Amino acid sequence: MQIDTANAAIDFVLSEARKSNVQYLDITFFGGEPLIESELLFLIADRFRNEKSLDQLLSFRLSTNGTLLTEHLMEQMMQREIYVSLSVDGPPDIHDLQRVNVAGKGSSQAVEKAIQVLLKANPCANVTCVLTPTSASRAYDCIDWLFNKGFRYFNLTLDYGADWTMSDMKKLESSYRELGIWYEQKISKNHRFYLSCFDERIRSRTMGKISNSEKCDLGFRQFSIAPDGGLYPCTQFVTTAGLPEFLIGHVKQGGFNHDCRKYVHNCSESPKPECKGCALTDRCASWCSCINFASTGSVTSASPVICHHERVLIPIVDEMANRLWRKRNRMFLHKHYNPSYPLIDFLEHIV
Ligand code: SF4
Ligand code: SF4
Repeated sequence: MQIDTANAAIDFVLSEARKSNVQYLDITFFGGEPLIESELLFLIADRFRNEKSLDQLLSFRLSTNGTLLTEHLMEQMMQREIYVSLSVDGPPDIHDLQRVNVAGKGSSQAVEKAIQVLLKANPCANVTCVLTPTSASRAYDCIDWLFNKGFRYFNLTLDYGADWTMSDMKKLESSYRELGIWYEQKISKNHRFYLSCFDERIRSRTMGKISNSEKCDLGFRQFSIAPDGGLYPCTQFVTTAGLPEFLIGHVKQGGFNHDCRKYVHNCSESPKPECKGCALTDRCASWCSCINFASTGSVTSASPVICHHERVLIPIVDEMANRLWRKRNRMFLHKHYNPSYPLIDFLEHIV
């Protein structure tokens, strides 16, 4: 992104925030690899922080593959309160198959250094681990390895764009069963951690259905800005140079095109017609347009991958949570029934 585009993007975001009277402004730097442009992103962060007229609470996040992360860069990000999330797909034998550099060489060595740098600066840092058909049978290995490295906040997700077969899904199912046992054992030993794919589904059972205000409001409450200043509804769509129907405006050409924005938003509405009558509608993530788009190339229908995934995962999570509930496991009850738990957990981790 050129500096004039970055400045136009900041002006645009500030003006939209004022117009919509939002209370929070969350800025996420993503790529590709955002640390390739660290000077530019610091400049952007500083301009937002120095903006006198900003009434909104401001937060920054950055997703990195860790290959360029140094102590010095980490320090600069901590000074600016940029919350860093690292992508690590598990132990070296898995990670190196899935994440290679331009020369085709696995990046695990660089990433192991990045893990140390990150966790030293922020023990509460988040790690994103992506399961593919190749690593489907290794969910347990991946999370246990990352746990032993010191992570406690795991975002475990699937590569929804991959070519999943029924046999891959079967492997995934048994690997989630192993992970369920891992979760139960860890929580029985009073470990505090957050495992997205399990905790989100326990939450949707204990706290009821996900409200509309928690769900995304595609292209409205969040949007993504491409390096050329193009506006897209979310991160997955930024690469869609050949699909102009997802281009909802441009920061240098009058901002949002309201018709395009509304059209994409309306196409993404959920529940989808094919989900009518499904008992999992209130708990299934089929409302995420990025997932649907990555898997089907469209936002109008639910991804078959997510459909199968939810039907596999939810019963495993529910069985495990029922066991912990019946045992009246104190950590489980504290974690899932005490509304102050997230704050207590965070404070205990940083003290
Ligand atoms: S489309 Fe999906 S990834 Fe994007 S904001 Fe909505 S829920 Fe999140
Ligand atoms: S499980 Fe399948 S049918 Fe049910 S809500 Fe999810 S995507 Fe729709």
